[in-house]
Amino acid sequence: MKIQEADAKSLMLAQGLPVPPWRVARTPAEVEAAAKAYFDAGAEKVVIKAQVLVGGRGKAGGVKLAGSAAEAAEVGARILGMDIKGITVRKVLVGAAADIVKEYYLGAIIDRANRRITLMASAEGGVEIEEVARQNPDAIHRVSADPLLGLLAFQARTLGLAIGLRDPLLNPFVVIAQGLYATMKANDADLVEVNPLAVVAEKAPDGTSVQRLVCLDAKITLDDSGLSRHPGLEALRDLDEEDPTDAQARRLGINFIHLDGTIGCMVNGAGLAMTTMDLVKHYGGEPANFLDVGGGARHETVCGAMELILADPNVNAILVNIFGGITRGDEVAAGLIEARAEQTREVPMVVRIVGTNAEEAARLLTEARFETATSLDEAAEKAVALSKGAAR
Ligand code: GDP
Ligand code: MN
Repeated sequence: MKIQEADAKSLMLAQGLPVPPWRVARTPAEVEAAAKAYFDAGAEKVVIKAQVLVGGRGKAGGVKLAGSAAEAAEVGARILGMDIKGITVRKVLVGAAADIVKEYYLGAIIDRANRRITLMASAEGGVEIEEVARQNPDAIHRVSADPLLGLLAFQARTLGLAIGLRDPLLNPFVVIAQGLYATMKANDADLVEVNPLAVVAEKAPDGTSVQRLVCLDAKITLDDSGLSRHPGLEALRDLDEEDPTDAQARRLGINFIHLDGTIGCMVNGAGLAMTTMDLVKHYGGEPANFLDVGGGARHETVCGAMELILADPNVNAILVNIFGGITRGDEVAAGLIEARAEQTREVPMVVRIVGTNAEEAARLLTEARFETATSLDEAAEKAVALSKGAAR
């Protein structure tokens, strides 16, 4: 689950990270009021940032500075309602603009290959890290935290030195890197990213200029499977921006992951769903999704699952593979028959139902002229043939 910058900043602040203050505004008048508060507190400029769950807002015109409260209201009016990569901006973040000296990148990810949280840093901050990874992979430096010891200070210091940081910014960098690690752990996050981690110039009380490291942007992706351990985090889900297919799957209690292939799969059980996908690939096809209807699926779930599959225009064949245990084969068959009566487009389908009430299911499906299969190999092979036939 992705969360908005403002929420990500709250989670970082809770771990002691240096995040400049902000306010969230939903109307130009709210932007003006927020901006006025920062100007009254001595800001020379304010920054107004679109809150949408996509990267590259700056490039898209969703991050702008303003020199007065009136100008902030105008900028706010322009950004609110703007379309950024297909998403309508409904709220903005307003803060005192930082005087940026240099932009770095710092991110924490779960490195599944070495089963550790890995921190990545680069002196090429501000720009998209994927771009840096393509063009100049050597500019990205990494250290992995030990699962028991955490991210040790010397590791963070090594990382800071690698990207060119020196005293007096090195120790603050160590604290920030460890704070990112703490934010990952505290929230079961998959990703915690600060881009830019900026060196900013600030006026000290005696009038001299000092440099400080601050987290100017924040991006956090939470592990959906970890959400049950953090009841407060579910509230951060932005329903305005969730993919409608994902939202519907969640409502139906279906595990659904969209993929790029052409064969829609409806299966009960995560393991069986993965096996089904493997066999589709084995016979030369590409699955369009992972879909586990769960145990004891009744026909409403089956109808809902069919809608999810058909919502993907790439799907040109469907493979249903049900192993009846608690799930009753005849219930699923009845659901499939009902779903087909309601579906908006005709897609060839092959159905394999074994286990509880399989005979009754077979009777219903034959009566309704469904293509069936008994073994999974046969079903997968048929689905691939149907998909290739449809593509021709
Ligand atoms: P993103 O484009 O979605 O990653 O949004 P960011 O928050 O990273 O902002 C994009 C860019 O806008 C940053 O890399 C900065 O160069 C610039 N920016 C963001 N905040 C400020 C600020 O407070 N002051 C100044 N001068 N520039 C900023
Ligand atoms: Mn950014």
